[in-house]
Amino acid sequence: MKYPALTICRSKVLSNACKVRELCSKKNIEVWGVTKGLSGDPRLADIYREAGFAGISDSRSLNLKKIRDSGNDLPRQLMRIAMRSELAELPGVADVSLQSEVSTILELDRVCSSLGVFHETLIMVDIGDLREGFWPNDLVYAGEALSNISNVSITGIAANFACASGVLPTMEKLDDLARYSDVLRESLGRNLPNISIGGTSCLKLLEGQTPPSAINQLRICEGVLLGKDTAFMREIPYLDGTALAIHAEIVECKLKPSVPSGELGLQAFGEKPVFLDRGTRKRALLGIGRQDVNIDRLTPMQDGVSIITASSDHMIVDVTDAASLRKDGCQPGDVLSFRPLYPAMLAAATSEYVSVVFEDK
Ligand SMILES: *Cc1c(COP(=O)(O)O)cnc(C)c1O
Repeated sequence: MKYPALTICRSKVLSNACKVRELCSKKNIEVWGVTKGLSGDPRLADIYREAGFAGISDSRSLNLKKIRDSGNDLPRQLMRIAMRSELAELPGVADVSLQSEVSTILELDRVCSSLGVFHETLIMVDIGDLREGFWPNDLVYAGEALSNISNVSITGIAANFACASGVLPTMEKLDDLARYSDVLRESLGRNLPNISIGGTSCLKLLEGQTPPSAINQLRICEGVLLGKDTAFMREIPYLDGTALAIHAEIVECKLKPSVPSGELGLQAFGEKPVFLDRGTRKRALLGIGRQDVNIDRLTPMQDGVSIITASSDHMIVDVTDAASLRKDGCQPGDVLSFRPLYPAMLAAATSEYVSVVFEDK
């Protein structure tokens, strides 16, 4: 294997995806698999397809293009609010998009008309998380302003939970959403069959309760890949949290003091680290750095390994207490492994220096 590497166990991700799909289908909710956590990797989109998901969702046109070109026939959704500069390619890249500006939707309608194509859109509503979406009071105005478009078909509304501000989904919020959908339907004068919610934090509600029947789509990424629900700070008990791992190779391993010598300024990233004098320690230098991972969101898998710090290209770990490693200590060429949380996964999957390996075991 080429290091550093991000490995993904296919069968575990597939099993997680199937469990999420089963849970959701009991509540008449279809699942849209979000691929942005692995940079739109078509192999992940294929797993979602195999699990019976209804569609693929990603925030980047480039990712959706990769998936389109891989031959995956699921419908594709662009879920980041579209930039004006990408409207021309949007209908070719995505079947559905999430939108939150009247002027952009009008422009998209003009683009679609001139191309002679049709495109589907869900109207984002901000339920209080304060990222994207119409404020509920503006839905009447939006519906009226959009009631005459011809080539963009508004088929529902969508909302995010716990994205920018950590606002959690509740039954109350879902009831609100169903009501907002009614408001928009009235002003638009059109049926709105879809209400899409996301992301992983919404699973918790579906586990115990039955949401309003109008809610029929879930967009999800983190739970399926990592078995975690960051918003509710929990490991999802029925999902596997061991599907992904990041592996890096030791390039140097030496006994060194735990406190630096010399006058101290700031380190490469403008921070001032704090040092605890623990005497002489065995330190391993790994061929992976902040360009490839977010070190605050990595957990060493081998006992006794702890992360000290990292610069762009190197991560430094303390391996003094790593009894599980070979008796004669670590050597250059040995590989250490880590479990990533979402930000570390995102960075690793995006870095062109990290190989992304889907394993079959
Ligand atoms: C990232 C994202 C999701 C997926 O969220 P997870 O919590 O990772 O499941 C859903 N919807 C939107 C709009 C997103 O940007």
